[in-house]
Amino acid sequence: MVPGLNKVIKAFERRSLPILFTRDWHPLDHISFRSRGGIWPPHCVQGTPGAEFHPGLRIPAGATIISKGTSRDAEAYSGFRGTNLEELLKSLGVEEIFLGGLTTDYCVRETTLDARTAGFSVTVIEDCTRAVDARPGDGGRALADMRRAGAKLTTLSEVVKRLAGTQQ
Ligand code: ZN
Repeated sequence: MVPGLNKVIKAFERRSLPILFTRDWHPLDHISFRSRGGIWPPHCVQGTPGAEFHPGLRIPAGATIISKGTSRDAEAYSGFRGTNLEELLKSLGVEEIFLGGLTTDYCVRETTLDARTAGFSVTVIEDCTRAVDARPGDGGRALADMRRAGAKLTTLSEVVKRLAGTQQ
């Protein structure tokens, strides 16, 4: 997944398109953790190695990093929840979002649905996401939900082809 995302990121860099990363950035006692009655083990605690991006992921200088889930009492699967992502994308003139990463059935799904609600076109790079699949089939159901909300599902090779083929 990471090498695929890096290919998309490089293609965006070549065309000087905006690149944004969202990350969980939780307080130590975040509401989503089991210790607080949530469903997740502690993860992505602010300032710890667990909150860092995958070491192989290309983070270009000039990319924007959006931290979410930063308040102890609010969950945020979506990159739009409790952040300035919508305003930021609109100020950049973004109309279409290409999306990949973790996880298909939680953060990718919720971010996609919120992006559709906010009026963006969304293209999910299906082979650049992975599902938790806590219940078998969750990932597939999430993809169906996103498609129903008007998101396009595509593959890495299609995206790379499209970005290489349309020069500006
Ligand atoms: Zn989280």
